[in-house]
Amino acid sequence: MLYQSTRNGTDLISGAEAIVRGISEDGGLFVPQSFPVLTDDMINLLTKKTYSERAAYIMSLFLNDFSSTELTEFCEEAYREPGFTHSSTAPLHKLDKITHFLELWHGPTCAFKDMALQVMPRVLTASLHKAGEARDVCILVATSGDTGKAALEGFRDVPGTKIIVFYPRDGVSDVQELQMTSQAGENVYVISVEGNFDDAQTGVKAIFSNKELSTVLNEKRIFLSSANSINWGRLVPQIVYYVSAYCDLLNCGDIEPGEKINFCVPTGNFGNILAAYYSELMGLRINKLICASNRNDVLTQFIKTGVYDKNRPFYTTVSPSMDILVSSNLERLLFELSGKNGGAVSAYMSALADEGRYIVPGAVQSEINRIFACGHCSETDTMATIGDTFKHHGYLIDTHTAVAYKVLDDYRETTGDNTLSVVVSTASPFKFCDSVITALGQPHSGGGVALIDRLAEITGTAVPAPLAALKDQTPRFTESVPVEGMEAAVRWFLGGE
Ligand SMILES: *Cc1c(COP(=O)(O)O)cnc(C)c1O
Repeated sequence: MLYQSTRNGTDLISGAEAIVRGISEDGGLFVPQSFPVLTDDMINLLTKKTYSERAAYIMSLFLNDFSSTELTEFCEEAYREPGFTHSSTAPLHKLDKITHFLELWHGPTCAFKDMALQVMPRVLTASLHKAGEARDVCILVATSGDTGKAALEGFRDVPGTKIIVFYPRDGVSDVQELQMTSQAGENVYVISVEGNFDDAQTGVKAIFSNKELSTVLNEKRIFLSSANSINWGRLVPQIVYYVSAYCDLLNCGDIEPGEKINFCVPTGNFGNILAAYYSELMGLRINKLICASNRNDVLTQFIKTGVYDKNRPFYTTVSPSMDILVSSNLERLLFELSGKNGGAVSAYMSALADEGRYIVPGAVQSEINRIFACGHCSETDTMATIGDTFKHHGYLIDTHTAVAYKVLDDYRETTGDNTLSVVVSTASPFKFCDSVITALGQPHSGGGVALIDRLAEITGTAVPAPLAALKDQTPRFTESVPVEGMEAAVRWFLGGE
């Protein structure tokens, strides 16, 4: 199994190398040259296995430079307690006969990013080893919330690694901030930036392209890398839970072998839903993939019209992890749908960089519509969906999951499609207490982590252990720097300068 860039198909590298490099030199993303096939027999075999066994098996189809013993060990370590608190790792919650929720938030940070970031650091360090890399790696992250904490937990005390997370001082929720500032581990450093997410992101990019700093760090046997969602090492573990959900539905008898199902995914950077598409390419029986957006509905417009246009207002919403105008992983979908045409993808991406928009031909658009449906959800509807779902089913969902559920509802209404559908649930409602309590129509004052108990009290729902533990935590990291101070912070942490 070899990997090529989405912009140029000539350079072929192994999976381990794709993970080490992160992004191709031509600016493209790494994709498998072809997809492994998942036969009905293989699915049948996987139904009898645990989540971590399913994960090791599927990852082995993509990462040939790892032995199955290695992958089994990585997955067992990644998906067991105390990190993952649920015995089936990624359980389904059945709402009614044709609706299940796939809960991807039973990991240490209570958001779906854990599904990939618990296993990716193990794969990355082993890949570095295989590539003969003797230096330590320092992961730099600029985060708007969920990714920073998930990366900290994933890299915490992993030998040969360090991690520095920058978050915007006034741009994350109280729960998210305390989750990060109370982070344990000898190799971690968390610092807030005076500015917004874009400022933090710009600062990190400047550090990556600073040649002098890289020379200094090289002398200390350290190099910088990133763990963002365009790295192949984050995508491959995400394919697993789509296959696993299908197996669980077979096991509980809600579908017959060979039956097609829908997935509805709350989408931001297009990583999660892309993994679902890849599982379909492998042969998983999927009828429709429903791409759900919040008020930032650039993807809905694209899927409907074939025009991707980021020249539009940016809205801050109650589902902040989906507030995004450029969905980086869409490039990988375009590559597959244009017949692996790197030239075409390069042209779209340079149009996006120059004019902020591109248009795909009719043939590509009809391929998109063969498998994808889409929809967007307003702020009011997001809140109403949380309230209604709790009132009618006693089931508490977060703001991102609510966007997806509402979009599925609209899809069913307009198409009459009653195929069994799985809503991908991406975060614990306790991560977004303020919005969720408001959605339930309950009064609350103040903010901060005290709202966690308030939400539990109102709903009689158990708080996930990692969030319950937060109220006894005190911040370990309290420093804040202007954007210009970010580089000095990196130098200090990595070398005591
Ligand atoms: C990151 C995130 C998303 C968006 O996922 P993408 O892979 O970027 O599309 C949705 N919901 C939550 C809670 C997230 O943290």
